[in-house]
Amino acid sequence: MFSFVLLNGYMKRLLLLLPLIGNISCGENELPTAAVHFAGEIVNPTSDYVVLHRNDKVVDSAQLDENNRFSFVLDSIDEGLHHFDHSPQRQYIFLEKGDSILIRLNASSSYFDESLVFSGDNEEVNNFMIEMFLTYEDEEPLIYSFYPLSPEDFSAKIDSLRQQKLEELEQLSISSELSEKAYTMAKASIDYHSYLYKEKYPFYHKKKTGETTIHKLDSAFYTHRESLDLNNGELSYFRPYYDFVKNYFGNLSYKVCNALCGMEGFASPEEQLHLNKHKLALIDSLVAEPKLRDNLFRNVAMDYLLKVHNANKDCDAFINEFEALSNNEAHKEEIKYLYKGIQNLQPQQELPEVWLENAEGNAVSLKEIAKGNNTVFYFWTSDQKRHFRNVTRHIAKLKLLHPNHQFAGISLKTNRSEWVALLDDSGVRPENQYRSTDFEEIQNALIVDGLNKCIISRDTLVVNAFANVFTSFPSKN
Ligand SMILES: [Zn+2]
Repeated sequence: MFSFVLLNGYMKRLLLLLPLIGNISCGENELPTAAVHFAGEIVNPTSDYVVLHRNDKVVDSAQLDENNRFSFVLDSIDEGLHHFDHSPQRQYIFLEKGDSILIRLNASSSYFDESLVFSGDNEEVNNFMIEMFLTYEDEEPLIYSFYPLSPEDFSAKIDSLRQQKLEELEQLSISSELSEKAYTMAKASIDYHSYLYKEKYPFYHKKKTGETTIHKLDSAFYTHRESLDLNNGELSYFRPYYDFVKNYFGNLSYKVCNALCGMEGFASPEEQLHLNKHKLALIDSLVAEPKLRDNLFRNVAMDYLLKVHNANKDCDAFINEFEALSNNEAHKEEIKYLYKGIQNLQPQQELPEVWLENAEGNAVSLKEIAKGNNTVFYFWTSDQKRHFRNVTRHIAKLKLLHPNHQFAGISLKTNRSEWVALLDDSGVRPENQYRSTDFEEIQNALIVDGLNKCIISRDTLVVNAFANVFTSFPSKN
């Protein structure tokens, strides 16, 4: 089944690419041997540029020409994993010295990853990695259905899915000459996805089965940890690896705390603080790779602040601890800024100064909307239609149950015509519907970290700025 999908996807892309192949081969011989040529065509572009990155650094950018083609010639590169942005999308590309590689893709959001195809040097590893990316995405619901299984059965399922992919890779390495680095990269794209599922198992299993404690797991379950490399600079910016490492530390801090302090649950803010201090200490002692270290510290700080969303001595102390460990000034600024935002949203604070657009196209402030009322501000975006339908239905129910509240919808990242059309189609009356015209501003000011968030206010004062629209109100009679 898997090989069919792989071949099918690959053939489809190869066909898309055919018209382009003729263009690149001619100039190739003139390039110095170490130079890299990266070019391509973007169908339905969503921006004028393609920007190439190596880890957190911009390598170069190229503007699309009138035929939506771009081209980079790089005298020398740092070999290995790169990524390229065609805003708002991004994807990985593996590059080695002397490579000449073409891409073709369709940038309309639903096709971006599916349509991406590489041809030229290192096409095999790059096409393989994008296939893995898509396969894992497709497999996700299946994996989630495995979480209630016993540890042994779950392991067996994950191992067998991993094995199928490793066999694909073996076939690829027989049929084409992969460099050692390319092979390692392709294998990492299999391994870390699979290992991530195992690190998530203890928590998802508990949640899915309703067991009251974390299921005891023997060392056989964690054999993947034997070859663990927590200092892999090459993979630090590779999402599956980074996600794996994050989850590994989540798991490990839980284990360590359970063994040393005898704690089991971490629901209260104090318990969260305690657990996250373990996490910082573990990262500090186990990760030496500077960028990975700093990225992990940032992630722990952000996670903690968003989860507890308090402003108190504990948070101050935690931020001090984070600042002492992190060597990244930009991260420190970012965390400070986030904390400031959280402080501004504490109960009894005045609502922040945020401007929205109403149905008539006039600017109105959050405070003007809230004045003299009990208000629930909720969010949606045109990108997530299912969420929009769910939240619309839910709000209709809440309105009946809570007639002393007004419910104000705020649409994010939706242009005006789309907004008007969506409200119209869904029969939502435009009174009390607003559109944000500056996503970054509203995201920072109101700390919008998810679409289920809602903000409850009384007159112009915050009651709860970190409520959940689906769970914070009694919605049944
Ligand atoms: Zn502890």
